[in-house]
Parts: sequence; C-alpha cells; structure tokens
Amino acid sequence: MALNLVIFGPPGAGKGTQSEALRDKYNLEHLSTGDMLREAVKNGTETGLLAKQYMEGGKLVPDEVVIKIISDKVATIAADRGTLFDGFPRTLDQAAALDKALEGNGRKIDAVVFLNVPDEEVVTRLCGRRMCPACNAIYHVTGKPPKKEGVCDNEGAALIQRADDNETVIRQRLDTYHSQTQPVIDYYGKKNLLKEVGLTGSPQETSRKIFEYLD
Ligand code: ADP
Repeated sequence: MALNLVIFGPPGAGKGTQSEALRDKYNLEHLSTGDMLREAVKNGTETGLLAKQYMEGGKLVPDEVVIKIISDKVATIAADRGTLFDGFPRTLDQAAALDKALEGNGRKIDAVVFLNVPDEEVVTRLCGRRMCPACNAIYHVTGKPPKKEGVCDNEGAALIQRADDNETVIRQRLDTYHSQTQPVIDYYGKKNLLKEVGLTGSPQETSRKIFEYLD
C-alpha cells in the first residue's frame, strides 16, 4: 500500500537529509515546497517573483500559492505511489488543504515524522551550511566540510550559501516557525500521527530510528 508521510520540523532540522533516506527506502515521491519555490525563483516564473520577497525575509509564502502548487502536484501522482511531503504543511490551513487534496484521491497521511531541534542548534547549523548549486549536496563548514574548501566533492562546483541562511533571516524563520508552523504539531498529535525524533548522534542514527518506527 502507498505510504504518505509528512516530514516536519524547524528550519535546519535535517528534513532534506532525512527525506532522501526515506525516499530511497520506501520508494516515495519527494515533494519539497522549498525546492519547488527555489526552482520557481531561479526560473523567474510568476510564482517565483512573488515568492522571492517572502523567502528572503524568512516569511511564509501565502497559503493560496503553496496550496495550489501542492494540490496540482498531488493530482499527478499515481494512486499506488506513496508521497513524502517536506516543508509542507506549514500552517493549519495548509494542513487542512492537504487532507482535502489527498482525500480527493482516496488517500491520507499515514505518519508525521517530527524532527525536533532547539533554536540555538538551528542557528549554528544554518550559519555554517553550504550548498552545491549544481547537485544540491549539502555541507557544513565545520560539521561536514567538503574535501577541498568551498568546492563540491561531486561536481567540483563552487559552493554557495542560501540567500536565507544568514543570522537575521534565520532568526526570522525561527519566529515564523514558532508562531505559524508549530500549531500544526497539535493538529497531527490529535490525530495520533506524530512521531517525534529528538537530536541524535548522527543523521544515520536518526534515519535508523525513523525506519524502526515506520517498519
Ligand atoms: P527551511 O525549512 O530550512 O526554512 P525550506 O527550503 O523548506 O527551508 O523553505 C524555504 C522558504 O520557502 C521558507 O522560509 C518559506 O519562505 C518558503 N516556503 C517553503 N515551504 C513553504 C510552505 N509550505 N508555506 C509557505 N512558505 C513556504
């Protein structure tokens, strides 16, 4: 049966890394609203032009915009294929809209993996995060440095810092998370779908815990 999951947590919790592990293990379609929006910004589409200002300020892109992107996408996924929602839903209205979009296709969310990481850890992680613009590989200046400073191990491309990974915007993203996104935890808690995973030793250890629960 198709597994539909949400991966949830503050910015910098490791949603992207764990999403890759989950996608590969359970053969899921991985939908990241952050990646989709960054792609739209890069391509200069109408959505991208609108989203850019919110993203660079650490604010949420308006609900109607992201709900449309996700609903359109969900409608194209085969009914027997599971989906992993990464970075969505981020508000209560988005959560309700997701339930509705899935219901329309005879599907539902089976579990929500909540990666819980304290604010100061988020700031440290994101300030040092670097990204490959060619293959999206993620590094950290001290935690996971590339073999050659500033250069991607895979692509040889010069690493970049995401426009929103500076301390001012990171603090704003955390504020946005606490005020608008945290209520979604209760929404899924009441439905008994929440699996919280705290800070662990390594990304592999976190994956192991998540797999153990889902299996
Ligand atoms: P992070 O979780 O590290 O903040 P994402 O890549 O998930 O990064 O999101 C980057 C930005 O994209 C967010 O700060 C926000 O502006 C926008 N965004 C992504 N997903 C959503 C969403 N579901 N609703 C509104 N805005 C979103």
